[in-house]
Amino acid sequence: MQEDKAKSIRQQPRFSGIFENGDGFSRRIKLHSHIIPNNLNIEKCLTDVENGVSFVAELERRLSEYLDGASVVATNSGTSAMHMALKVVSKRIYGTDNLSGKRVFCSDLCPIEQAVPILYEGGIPTFIDVTDTDYGMDPEALKTAFELYPDMKIVIMNHAYGFPGQIFEVKEICEKHGAVLIENASEAFGARVNGKPVGTIGDIAVLDFGKGKFITCESGGALVCKNENDEFLARNMVALKRDDLPWNHVDTIKYDYGMSELSAAVILGQLDNLDEIIDKKRKIYEYYKENLNEDIITLIKSEDGTEPNYWQPVIMLDSQIEANEDRTADGYSYEDIHGTTSPMEVVDALDAFGADAVLVYMPMSMQPIFENSELVGEDGILDVSKAYAEDNRMFRDECSGDAFMRCVCLPADLSMTEEEQSRIIEIVHSCFNKKSMDRSAFK
Ligand SMILES: *Cc1c(COP(=O)(O)O)cnc(C)c1O
Repeated sequence: MQEDKAKSIRQQPRFSGIFENGDGFSRRIKLHSHIIPNNLNIEKCLTDVENGVSFVAELERRLSEYLDGASVVATNSGTSAMHMALKVVSKRIYGTDNLSGKRVFCSDLCPIEQAVPILYEGGIPTFIDVTDTDYGMDPEALKTAFELYPDMKIVIMNHAYGFPGQIFEVKEICEKHGAVLIENASEAFGARVNGKPVGTIGDIAVLDFGKGKFITCESGGALVCKNENDEFLARNMVALKRDDLPWNHVDTIKYDYGMSELSAAVILGQLDNLDEIIDKKRKIYEYYKENLNEDIITLIKSEDGTEPNYWQPVIMLDSQIEANEDRTADGYSYEDIHGTTSPMEVVDALDAFGADAVLVYMPMSMQPIFENSELVGEDGILDVSKAYAEDNRMFRDECSGDAFMRCVCLPADLSMTEEEQSRIIEIVHSCFNKKSMDRSAFK
């Protein structure tokens, strides 16, 4: 943000008194931070690799142990793991590894990395609306989608922001229709549903160790396979060379999707801290839950019986704020109305004081690249094919679009102190309070 804009936000009367000097946090509060063991010796790793040590094999073994014995193929990104999942599943169902002209059901609220591999393979995504609590695929909308397209065979569902969705319900619907469920556990590694680790519930699953993720090597992922044939196909795709011949014999298309040894070493170091990270994230979430004003703000939450990993606390602002923020293809603006605020106003205010916050994902059905795709809600196909309405303004009221228009991801920096977090909360509350200096009404 431009310093003069930041300064003018900081000087607004509603924020006075939150910081003694008025300047904001003494260091940047990040959305996410990491616990990386400081004994990682890169030179030793590289020498070990030269001497035949495989950190990738060790990581795959450890992940498999964690995931109830499923086979794990480590990849260089979550996107490549998703691409392979689609190829493997397509081969299983259609006998060919491309999706040319085939429809795939996909949750509407997800990062582009989940949906774009459908296009790599020539498939046609049909997006499924999400719930307004955990922002995962809405089982009722999926039922409706199967009524419209009974022959659909592939469903991709993500657990949004570390808060698992209703995957057992989704799985049951898939089984009834003979469809394969690809579980995208990218954001929810370490979470459980009914005691089962996420990543083991779908027929095949994707993990991610990219930037900002729960456990990270900057770019990495994994494919979790539940049968030997899927694993064989995946390994064949990532392995550029065959082990059993002294020359390079290539009989299928290869993808340079394997994880690097160094990345695997970085992830292995963090796996030991998994419980500690979950514990810290849970405390951050609970502090928000206890201290945010529930009359104006609703926090993301999973169904009972679910243990989230609490990766990213997401808040939804009270519905009266909808009219208050304009988003167009060119940018955004918000009005100064006492008692209301808007997601970008909260993001800007936190930014001005030195804390990172972002909107939730722009729904896939709103993306210009998917302009002709359908979005299915509980009552049928929703008329939302255009990202922007005629007058260039965004307005959407199905769950995924509503979440985009009303939600904010708050900082979940592992090194954030309780005092820093309480200031974040004060800033958020003060955003609702435009004219008066009295913040007590909003505490
Ligand atoms: C991060 C993420 C991915 C993959 O991202 P990459 O940048 O390719 O590692 C895929 N799906 C979800 C839900 C994610 O959060």
